[in-house]
Amino acid sequence: MRVGIGYDIHRFIDDKPLMLGGIEIPHIKGLSGHSDGDSLLHAICDAILGAAGMDDIGHQFPDNDDRYAGIASSELLKMVADKINKKGFKVDYVDSVIILEEPKIAPFKDAMKQEIAKILGIGKENVNVKATTQEGVGALGRGEAIAAYAVASLEK
Ligand SMILES: [Zn+2]
Repeated sequence: MRVGIGYDIHRFIDDKPLMLGGIEIPHIKGLSGHSDGDSLLHAICDAILGAAGMDDIGHQFPDNDDRYAGIASSELLKMVADKINKKGFKVDYVDSVIILEEPKIAPFKDAMKQEIAKILGIGKENVNVKATTQEGVGALGRGEAIAAYAVASLEK
């Protein structure tokens, strides 16, 4: 069994849909980035890549490569799963925590778990999504961005 960790953060910008955990969440702002800015899926990508002993998503999918401009992060996660499958690994379990002040995402956690499990081709019981606030401290506390941590275990 192998374990990897991932972290990501994207700042809020206007006039963009908010994509988090592979689903669209109703909000007045979205997340910046070359892709859709889904910091949770990016953290999960890095956790899975880390467990497989591979380099991070910035290395796998460079943001100066036009093939990835505006790409859905669900596509990136699918490509990550394909990459590690080719190396003989299978995702066993994913745990994660989203750090944000707003919007409230409790009503959407279940849909996120479902979507992440679907992308990875594993059971929903093998994906966990938790959330916390930054208690008003710093840039995250001012609601300027959404960050996420993820841990993934793989089996060969
Ligand atoms: Zn990212």
